[in-house]
Amino acid sequence: MRQKTYMSNTNNKKNNNTNNKRNSVNAKGAARKRPQAKKAVANIKSKAVSKPAAKKKTSKASSNAKSVPMPFKIIPLGGLKEIGKNCTLIECNNEILIIDCGMAFPEYEMFGIDVVIPDFSYLIENSSKIKGLIITHGHEDHIGGVPYLLKEINVPIYAAPLAMGMIEHKLAEHGLTAEKHVIKAGDKFKASSFKIEAIQTNHSIADALAYSIKFPGGHVFHTGDFKVDYSPLDGKVIDLARMSQLGDEGVDVLLCDSTNVLRQGYTPSEAVVRKSIDEIFNNIDRRIIIATFASNFHRIKYFIESSMKHKRQIAVSGRSMENVIALSRELGYMDDIPESVFVDINKIKNIADRTVKAAGIHINSTTNSARKPGKLFCS
Ligand SMILES: [Zn+2]
Repeated sequence: MRQKTYMSNTNNKKNNNTNNKRNSVNAKGAARKRPQAKKAVANIKSKAVSKPAAKKKTSKASSNAKSVPMPFKIIPLGGLKEIGKNCTLIECNNEILIIDCGMAFPEYEMFGIDVVIPDFSYLIENSSKIKGLIITHGHEDHIGGVPYLLKEINVPIYAAPLAMGMIEHKLAEHGLTAEKHVIKAGDKFKASSFKIEAIQTNHSIADALAYSIKFPGGHVFHTGDFKVDYSPLDGKVIDLARMSQLGDEGVDVLLCDSTNVLRQGYTPSEAVVRKSIDEIFNNIDRRIIIATFASNFHRIKYFIESSMKHKRQIAVSGRSMENVIALSRELGYMDDIPESVFVDINKIKNIADRTVKAAGIHINSTTNSARKPGKLFCS
């Protein structure tokens, strides 16, 4: 089914008019726009620390003169002062690199709208400058806007295996293709003059990456969503050593995830979450219904593993949930989970609660919002 989209109004009135024309699938209800953070454009002159910039500027006459790095802009098209539709541009020397292209779920007043996407007007107007789209991880608020962007412009995508697999699913649904580059933590690659390094980080989904991005204007470090977790489910610990090295080299701008930054304390390890889930499974003798985001990859794996440990069966419901689990199995992230633990959702009515313990998972996508998780049922 074709989804109805709403392109958020981060630009000026002229662009809003253009957006309305472009998004012909918008429902009437979208006309009542929610208040948006003003488009923030940072014109940043980086410090004179960049050696590559010095080389580029060098001439015989001026080789001893202090180099002046190129100015660059950092343009957030979404994700700033809001949760959802993360999309950040770095523009320097007539080249643009895009970091993430997410979606947000509609606010309550956005009747008839399924997906809220960033305002792509600036990218469409400057499409010849775009050199690549790099993805930090596979959550919807970081990849959900990709098919809508690719409908407007063609751009090479760089992403880790799980995020790329999820993007491929989306592109196939929309009948789109793209130039794709699968990368992993530690990889260094170039998108025109942007020299990019992918760095391991931790999040509630596998394959989360931070990026070091060096270019003639300077060095930007983008953390993506992260937590410092010394006992992540997949054993891939955040690479603080490499981050420290890059910090010693000099970073001009740090773009950092800020969710809950104003709350004191620290986020416990995913291992703690796992223990709590295990206790729930231990204490409940009847069916369990779980609600979570389909993209909450690690948690879903905990639920399945706990189900196995407590000899429960698992029924999966909801298209997104089915897709994520199928993809995870396909890519080998759930190799230790046999097919036999899953049961058809249509057959759980015939399974008695106590005689055969069953765990089913169902996601109700119609109640999803960026702040409110959808529902999962384990039965
Ligand atoms: Zn995330």
